[in-house]
Order: sequence, then structure tokens, then C-alpha cells
Amino acid sequence: MSSSLISYLTDVHFGCGAIAELPALLSSLNISRPLLVTDKGLSALGMPDRLQVDLAAVHDDVPTNPTESSVVAGANTYSANSCDGIIALGGGSPIDCAKGVSLKVTHPGPLKDYALIHGGLAKITADKPPLIAIPTTAGTGTEVGRGALITVEGGTKLGIISKHIIPTASICDPELTVGLPPRLTAATGVDAISHCVETYSSPKFNPVADAIALDGLSRAWQHLPIAVSQPENLEARSEMMLAAMQGALAFQKGLGLIHSLSHPMGALPHRSLHHGELNGVFMPHVLRFNAQSCPDKMAGIANAVGAASSEDLPQFFTEFQQVIALPISLSEMGVEPVDLETIPPLAIADHSTPSNPRKAIESDCREILQAAL
Ligand SMILES: [Zn+2]
Repeated sequence: MSSSLISYLTDVHFGCGAIAELPALLSSLNISRPLLVTDKGLSALGMPDRLQVDLAAVHDDVPTNPTESSVVAGANTYSANSCDGIIALGGGSPIDCAKGVSLKVTHPGPLKDYALIHGGLAKITADKPPLIAIPTTAGTGTEVGRGALITVEGGTKLGIISKHIIPTASICDPELTVGLPPRLTAATGVDAISHCVETYSSPKFNPVADAIALDGLSRAWQHLPIAVSQPENLEARSEMMLAAMQGALAFQKGLGLIHSLSHPMGALPHRSLHHGELNGVFMPHVLRFNAQSCPDKMAGIANAVGAASSEDLPQFFTEFQQVIALPISLSEMGVEPVDLETIPPLAIADHSTPSNPRKAIESDCREILQAAL
């Protein structure tokens, strides 16, 4: 089966077997000495061999939440091996790290200078090496996204956002997600759902993005339980990969409080909490918090997921978490009350907060955290 070419923010080669198009894509982008950015888990599974291309170098020392030091190490490997392009293979972490590497090799200074909240948008130029993103999870959609989330020196998880950060091209091959274990399938899939929910709820005017987000939400809602219970079901894997991509195509409207809270929680150095699992825990509480600010949007979400009414949504989402066997509280993830103390001001400062439909202050965040504990 040949892939379909979808060009919206970037070119996406989508379909089972699309990975076979990588050699042609490399030559069309004049890449002859690619750096592969991946992680040690995928290296151990032999996933890089499935690319079937000659690599100039490999950088696989990427932690679950990519750090500035992993970006700097990747940039050093890139330069030391005279690379002329980057292939990112993996989930959100290797792809975001690769985005950071593509920035770092041409943009001097600490990464925090390029974060959106530090005026980075104006400093990021198109002068960057080409990057081909190949996701092996269906969740972040970062393969088509304008952002990279990186924990910078000092420990803050910051969003680096620019249209120049979008990968030059992506290959979305659902077959690459077949080996993903059920827990990770569920957690990454819930991340995709949270992107659709949050960007649709954002008050920014963009009906095109709204339509994409709602379509992605309903696909993910129907197919995530199947992908979790039947890992080799390619239709479900394909629908999830599409939903993940749709979530990220739409989130140019911005996200909201679910992400504002999960970003600083994900940066807690001693916990290593999964982004998608955090979002799943926060989602019912943030839906409840936002409900009165955007009743039309809540009705749209209820319609997309098949809930009888928007009042049922928080409970409906909690039950969904249970169906796909994900935690429904922070305590289940090992979080203790003391971990929450530093979170509210960081959540308010997060780049996702301004696009939440209801204005939140620190005490709101504290209440949501307590309720989610
Ligand atoms: Zn997310």
C-alpha cells in the first residue's frame, strides 16, 4: 500500500509501510550524513535497523523528559560527525530532543533564551538543518508540531515554539507502533485525546483547527481501547496515529490547564512521571473547572465521545481511564502532597495557561491538584 501525502503544517507520509520511503526522502532533502536521535530502549529493540539507511552517527542518550544536556550532547555528536541532517525516531522525547539539536547546532547560547516565555519566537530562524521525524508512539503528535518541550538547565520544563521547529517532513507508519506495550499505548493515546480536548476548548478563533480536533477526539475515543486490548490491530493503530497527528495539527490554538499542570509535574526530577498519564489524571478535573466558561465546547466534546450530556463528561473521562487501565489519581502514580507545593506558580507561568477557556489563578491550580491527588 502506498502512503498518502498530507501537507498542512508539514509534509506527512502516512500509512502502513511508509517507512520504506525514508531513503528517497533523505535524498530529496540532500541528506547524506544523517544523525539519528532515538532512545536507548528503541536502540535495544533494534528499531534503528528498520530504517534501512546509512547513519553518520547515533545519539540515543535521551531521558524520558528531554533535558538541555541531552540536546547539547546531540549537537556535539552532530558537529563531530559532520552531519547534514537529522532523523528523529521514537516517542515525544527523542523527537523533541532532535528538534532541540536542530536548533542548537545553529543557534548559540542557552536553550532557555529560545523558550516562548522568554521571547524565543523572534530569535528562532529558518537557518537549521533538515529534520525528518518518525514517531513510534501515537500521542504527542510532535512530528507535526511547532513546539519542543525541554527541561532546561535549572530544572524548568520550557516550550520552545516556532514554525521553524516543525520537522521538515514526517513519516507516520502505524506498523512502527505495534510493539508499544498496552500501558504506553494508553498513556500516549490519552495525551492525544488531551490535545484534542484542550485545543478545541481554547477560545482562540480557528474553526478549521476545531474541526480537526473534534475529528481526532472521536477517532481516538473509539480506537484507543482497541489499540490497548489488541496491540496488533493495525486499523486501531492507524486511527490512533491519525488522531495523534490531528491533535498536534490543531494545537496551534494553544492548549490549557491540563498541560499547564502536567508540564511542571513532568519536570519533577525525582519522580519521572509520564506526561500522558498526568494528563489523563488531570483531564476530568480541568473539564469540571472549565465547564461553565465554554458550554458550547463542552457540548461538542460530549457529542464527539458519545456522552449523554456535558455534565457527565468528568465522570465519563474517569471511566475511560479505568477502561484503558490508567491511574485516575496522582497518588496512584506515587505522587506525595509535598510534591505539589511548587507546582501552582509554575503552572500559571506555563505557556499553555493563556489559552485555557477559564482564567486560572494559583489557588485554582492548588484546588485542582488537591482534587487530583
Ligand atoms: Zn501533551
